[in-house]
Amino acid sequence: MPMFVDTSPPGHCIFCKIVAGEIPAAKVYEDDLTIAFMDIGQVNPGHVLVASKRHAVTVLDLTAEEAAAVMQTAQRIAHAAQQAFAPDGITLFQANGAAGGQTVFHFHMHVLPRHEGDGMALSWPRKEPAMPLLQHYAKQLQTALQSTAQL
Ligand SMILES: [Zn+2]
Repeated sequence: MPMFVDTSPPGHCIFCKIVAGEIPAAKVYEDDLTIAFMDIGQVNPGHVLVASKRHAVTVLDLTAEEAAAVMQTAQRIAHAAQQAFAPDGITLFQANGAAGGQTVFHFHMHVLPRHEGDGMALSWPRKEPAMPLLQHYAKQLQTALQSTAQL
């Protein structure tokens, strides 16, 4: 997991300062809704962060338009990374909330060129519940989707 933690007060976060041009960043791309810049950690060469320009903390705070724009920008950056760095693979990583691994509390997605044996790891404990429990979970989500359909 990333070790950098932004402790800036709300409204003064490090990514808002990058969007405003108040602190330097190695910018790659921007449009009306998104900005893409080099992650200072650089797990591998070409490691980019795609952030919403507006301060939104998590995926739950994005508008549908912003969510679509972030994914479109991430795909454009992924194509560019493939061409520029010829990685073996590309990981898109997006964390929400401290428990989800988020360390800068302004929405962002990592576009991470990957190479065999590069040391990147994500613990993924499979629990494999039985089908009736999977169906129960699906029903819970279907019910929730009905109440969030207007979002
Ligand atoms: Zn911000």
